[in-house]
Amino acid sequence: MKNREVAKLLEDIATLLEMKGESRFRVVAYEEAARRIESWPEPIEEVWKKGKLREIPGIGESIASKIEEYLSTGKLSYLEELTREIPPEVIQLTAIPGVGPKTAKLLYDQLGIKSIEDLEKAIAEQKLRQLPRLGAKSEEKIRKGIEMFKKQSGRMLLGQALPLVEEIVGAIQEKSGVTKISPAGSIRRMKETIGDIDILVASSVPESIMKIFTSLPQVREVIARGTTKSSIVTQEGIQVDLRVVEEASFGAALQYFTGSKAHNIKLREIAIKKGFKINEYGIFRLDNDKRVGGEKEEEIYETLGMEWIPPEMREDQGEIELAQEKKLPVLIDIDDLQGDLHVHSDWSDGVTSIEGMAEAALSRGYKYLAICDHTQSLAVASGLSPEEIWERRKEIEQWNQKRKELRLLDGVEVNIMSDGSLDFPDSELDKLEVIVAGLHSGLGQGEEKITRRLEEAMRNKYVQVISHPTGRILNKRDAYQVNREKLFYLAKETNTYLEINSQPERLDLGDSDARRARDLGVKLVISTDAHDSRSLDYIRYGVAQARRAWLQKEDVLNTFPLEELWEFLYYKKRAK
Ligand SMILES: [Zn+2]
Ligand SMILES: [Zn+2]
Repeated sequence: MKNREVAKLLEDIATLLEMKGESRFRVVAYEEAARRIESWPEPIEEVWKKGKLREIPGIGESIASKIEEYLSTGKLSYLEELTREIPPEVIQLTAIPGVGPKTAKLLYDQLGIKSIEDLEKAIAEQKLRQLPRLGAKSEEKIRKGIEMFKKQSGRMLLGQALPLVEEIVGAIQEKSGVTKISPAGSIRRMKETIGDIDILVASSVPESIMKIFTSLPQVREVIARGTTKSSIVTQEGIQVDLRVVEEASFGAALQYFTGSKAHNIKLREIAIKKGFKINEYGIFRLDNDKRVGGEKEEEIYETLGMEWIPPEMREDQGEIELAQEKKLPVLIDIDDLQGDLHVHSDWSDGVTSIEGMAEAALSRGYKYLAICDHTQSLAVASGLSPEEIWERRKEIEQWNQKRKELRLLDGVEVNIMSDGSLDFPDSELDKLEVIVAGLHSGLGQGEEKITRRLEEAMRNKYVQVISHPTGRILNKRDAYQVNREKLFYLAKETNTYLEINSQPERLDLGDSDARRARDLGVKLVISTDAHDSRSLDYIRYGVAQARRAWLQKEDVLNTFPLEELWEFLYYKKRAK
């Protein structure tokens, strides 16, 4: 499917138009179209073949004809025309945090900067501070932006890596019939970003596995091909390493290559104290070198007198000690979830109808789903007025009357304004069932202001959940300045729940924040913030984050059945 590809072209057009100083209206039209297409549930080429491009909201005649041109000829003359004025390399500068399209254009026009290297050189020579609209402060901000960009490039989101690894593992399994195959490394530990991908296979015919692996359609380049290890680069430019081991060593190798490094170091120390040695081939007695296990990962932990430790916990943060005492927590599982408490519909900036979202939730076995469209101040996200919410309510009620298997909850995601007030009156919030509140603007304020805004929202008795509590966008934007410790204490004090937003680029709260919040007595909600029916699948990334935070079922609100959920949701409103 070419949705991402087409969306990228439209994004480039938007960036170039903004550089040229075109009207905000035109720029936003392209941005909006890109976003719609990227999250559209059907492949865009099929929508085009059916002649239904213009039925996608936000796709007017002019954009539709450009998509048609691209899909039928592979070319986009409008984009070519734009890049005649501004070279395409300049677009790449906007990937640096702190460099917007206007700044990139200015840097190109005034200093001829076309690459990060050019930019670094100009900063070293203090040339940026002499430009109009920029100053020493902007120069420093861009320098930091480059640092961040370099640190993160090369690390991909879990949400990109996991589907890719599953595809590759599935293809190898299908073609070879191997049964013992697993991702290892940070992807098995479900870290929020992944460096490169490791896959482990047990087989007695490594040559044939390597042949299958290196000739997969996903492969762009074979970097190394050996009998026990091969490395490829995928079409997307991601490195995947595959190792083949003997069946008898599969568990030991899986343990070894899953890491983390800190976890394995501690494990090896314990092994030595107990008279054992562990490596990628197995677990051995130190005195006579006799092999005592290694086919299954569990054998390693058992031999050392421990419970098997879930990969998400293997970071040497106390899990080994708990495993020795046989006191590991039972981590939350995706099947524990009974519903999703934050999704959008096509009433605001989502692309799927309420009914479409409900059907998708039902097919996941959910018992409830909260439709939390944006509210009025977010005009860019088609936020709803009280009148529109009233109209939308009829549609929600219709479903609830007809379909008893899944309860739709009438909700909103209100915006916390720069002064801490909400963009929806209390009298209207009183009529709604789920109220999620989040910061979507004024994110550059200082710590005291941001924290105060969140405090004020939490002190509102109607606000039940704070969405994406730190505002981070992985690989793009740091969290806003919020005093986290204070945020968690306030959440506890005001009985407000904090979200683990499952969008792959958010995963907010992250693992250590979620763990700290839970330890302080805060309850969490795992939500997808889905804007289309497909994205309900993102829940697994949120659950992974929760497992890395050591959360158990009872720590998470949406594992409770509806009757108990009501108690939690209305607790604040009812309290005096
Ligand atoms: Zn939001
Ligand atoms: Zn949202």
